[in-house]
Amino acid sequence: MLIDSHAHLEMPEFEKDLHDVIQRAMDSEVSAIFTVGTEQKDWTRALEIARSYPNIYAILGVHPHNAKEIEEETYSVLRKLCREEQVKAYGEIGLDFFRDRSPRRVQIERFREQVGLARELRLPIVVHDREAHQETLEVLKSERAEECGGIIHCFSGDESMAKACIAMGFYISISGTITYKNAGQFQEIVRYLPLESLLVETDAPFLAPVPFRGKRNEPSHVRYTARKVAEVKKVSFEKVAEATTGNARRVFKLNDPLSALLSLEREGKGKDKEDL
Ligand SMILES: [Zn+2]
Ligand SMILES: [Zn+2]
Repeated sequence: MLIDSHAHLEMPEFEKDLHDVIQRAMDSEVSAIFTVGTEQKDWTRALEIARSYPNIYAILGVHPHNAKEIEEETYSVLRKLCREEQVKAYGEIGLDFFRDRSPRRVQIERFREQVGLARELRLPIVVHDREAHQETLEVLKSERAEECGGIIHCFSGDESMAKACIAMGFYISISGTITYKNAGQFQEIVRYLPLESLLVETDAPFLAPVPFRGKRNEPSHVRYTARKVAEVKKVSFEKVAEATTGNARRVFKLNDPLSALLSLEREGKGKDKEDL
C-alpha cells in the first residue's frame, strides 16, 4: 500500500472525472490521498472531497503564490476550517522565488505568520520551497517549526538542507521529478536519505512521473515515484511502500485503518466505503 501525501484533487483538472481518478488510485493500492487546498476558493471543495471519501484527507493553507491575497479575515476562516476532523495538516506554505507570483518580502512575512498559526492549531505543516532553500530554512528555524513538524513537499534542496530539515523532525517528500532524465544529481541525494524520513507524493495534476511526463498527473501514478526511490536506494518496492506509508501515518497522525472503519460504521457512514 502507498499513500499519496500531496495532490490537488479540488483543482478544475479533476472536475469531470474525480470519482474515476480516485477509483484508479484505490485499484492501484493507494490507501490514502491528501488533497491540498492552496487558496481560499479551494478550501471548501477540498474539505468536501475529504468528507465524501473515508481515505481522503485535506490540507489547508495559503500557497506562497497567493500570499499577496491574504486579508485580515483569511486567518479566521482558516482557523475555523482547520478544526475539522478531516484536516490533517496546514499548508502548503513557504517560498517560491522561481515564479515570484507574490513579492518575496510578502511571501516571507506570510510564511512566518502561517507557521505560527499551524503551531497554534497544533497541525504539522506542508512546506513548498522553490529556489528559496536558505530563506525557507531560516523561517523554519526562527519560527520554531520543530514544534509542529511536518513535510518538505516536492523536495528539491541539497543533502545539507535535507539533513537540517530531518534534524528539525521534518519528513522529506519525493515527487515524480525523481523519475526525470535530468534527475541524476537529485537521485544521488535521495540515495543517502534515510527511509525513515521519506514520503512519496504526486502533486497531481502537476509533475507526472515518467512514463506520463507532460500529461495530467493523478494519485495512482505515485507508484512510479516509489519504484524509482526503491531503485535508487537499491531496496525493494515493498520496503519503500511500507516505510513511506508508515511515515505518512505518523506525520498526519492517522488512526489505525480498522478503528477508522469501525467508527465510520458507528456513524452510519459505512455506505461511503462501498461506493469506492
Ligand atoms: Zn508546492
Ligand atoms: Zn502542491
